[in-house]
Amino acid sequence: MRTIEELARPEVLRWENYQVQPVTGCKMDANESSFPLPESVLQAAIEWLKHEDLRIYPDTDCLELRKAIAGRYGLSVHEIICTVGSDQLIDYLSKAFLSEGDRIVVPRPSFSMYALSAEINHGSAVPFELTEDLRYPVDQILEICRQNRPKILYLCNPNNPTGGVIPEEDLRRLIEGTDAIVALDEAYAEFAGFDHAEWTKEYPRLIVLKTFSKAYGLAGLRIGYGIAQAPLIRVLDKVRAPYNLGTFPQILAREALKCPEYAERIRITAAERDRIYAALAPYAGRNGFMIYPSRANFLYMRTGSAGIEEYMLARGLSVRFYGDAAGTIRATVGRPRQNDALIEALRAWVTVQAADDKE
Ligand code: PMP
Repeated sequence: MRTIEELARPEVLRWENYQVQPVTGCKMDANESSFPLPESVLQAAIEWLKHEDLRIYPDTDCLELRKAIAGRYGLSVHEIICTVGSDQLIDYLSKAFLSEGDRIVVPRPSFSMYALSAEINHGSAVPFELTEDLRYPVDQILEICRQNRPKILYLCNPNNPTGGVIPEEDLRRLIEGTDAIVALDEAYAEFAGFDHAEWTKEYPRLIVLKTFSKAYGLAGLRIGYGIAQAPLIRVLDKVRAPYNLGTFPQILAREALKCPEYAERIRITAAERDRIYAALAPYAGRNGFMIYPSRANFLYMRTGSAGIEEYMLARGLSVRFYGDAAGTIRATVGRPRQNDALIEALRAWVTVQAADDKE
């Protein structure tokens, strides 16, 4: 009899599962929204649950939701695909475009699912490092693409976890300078006040990845979507699982798109992000502390020591820890009081570190 280990793909046995950090206290680790569900969306959800028949499979084509999304961008339904979070869209990109041994090019540091999904789907990822000041090194990326002929080039804009954005002229050079699918992940673009959905009209190899998990605060429902020209969407649709997105997520996403409250929430989140940055930027350069400008709903920092994890957790602040010697963290923008606590904790950290160094 063969064992499970003998039957499983050898590389799968070697993989670590995607690690989700345990959370204690104030949750500022996963870039979720800090706002509760808007009342109008909640009421729609309740009404829907009273009347809808859950015995019936969802609309496999997500037609009404795709119409609503397409309408918002002035595009047609054929240019939209809906998925279970943008995670599933990343998986579909790998499934649809990667054959055994094909490559993708990914930023580092950035969202880990790009590489993971390529490997799960028999491909491999070639990383490029961001510059010292966390920009995308355009010439180097183009050179890596020339050498590796990737099927997909991932760009994350604003980049997770660093929060920086790619200048538009760089973006154009990257799209025009490669012959790969360019997967432009704009999960956080609402907080930066832009989106490049329009650009898909111009570039047949461009797909913009979007999600309801961040600005719309619906991470628990797992709704993502892609925007691209119809031929690219048709290819992705071939690998899409039937009924991939449940009826409830489809209904709530449509309600969320109708709700006017999000614009104000996004504005408040961006203002809070800038307030945290302004409060901590004067400490940059002291005892290994560094904070980077961000256009997303999180801030990336180097705190100088791995001891930051214990320190923050003791204060009930669960930010994302990277476990490195530089004490790198990423903190999601929260409610004002949480942000105050974050600012105070980090100010004290830098100051205490300074005192320790003098001893
Ligand atoms: N892209 C980026 C850059 C992300 O940070 C995340 C989630 N952390 C995702 C995609 C996936 O989001 P979801 O699957 O919730 O849509």
